[in-house]
Amino acid sequence: MNDFYPFVNTPLPYGYAALEPFIDEKTMRLHHDKHLQTYINNLNAVLKEHAELRKYSLEQLITCNIMPPSAVRTNVRRNAGGVYNHRFFFYGLKNPSSPAPTGALARAINGYFGSFDKFRTRFTDAALSVFGSGYAWLVRDGRRLAVVTSANQDTPLCNNVSPLLCIDVWEHAYYLKHCNVRADYVDDFFEIIDWARADALYSGSK
Ligand code: MN
Repeated sequence: MNDFYPFVNTPLPYGYAALEPFIDEKTMRLHHDKHLQTYINNLNAVLKEHAELRKYSLEQLITCNIMPPSAVRTNVRRNAGGVYNHRFFFYGLKNPSSPAPTGALARAINGYFGSFDKFRTRFTDAALSVFGSGYAWLVRDGRRLAVVTSANQDTPLCNNVSPLLCIDVWEHAYYLKHCNVRADYVDDFFEIIDWARADALYSGSK
């Protein structure tokens, strides 16, 4: 994945219709080709004017270890976050997928949440609790697992945690198919989670 300026919109790792019937083709086309593309264009536009920022990777631009000039800091954070979050979301989906994790992550989820169903309830509640636009995440925080939310295009990377899984709950992610019923979208999301990827991220092999 090209992680440095100039950023390009890498293709989805599957076809636009691959997530049907859980996420519809039109939503995926708009989401990847329009919404994500806009974040990429905006991020490139800022870095075009700020050559000193081009040495930083996408993750470095949002991990708070660097401080872009105050005049463009918000712009950089929002757009780099928009690129990172969308890629993380898209790459975490797969259809068909397994309904639940099986490896070390499965044992960790059982240990920290009590059971997979309890984790699912916790994650769903978090996704539904996001007021307006944002994301819900499963993250690894040292040896712990946690479910967290982020507003707009903020990311949990700023808190020194490792994301394992996320759901985009901006309305553009689901409105064409699920209309105003975010809960139905979250249910469909659980049908297409790439648990093997989340497990690989958890185990540090990815
Ligand atoms: Mn989105």
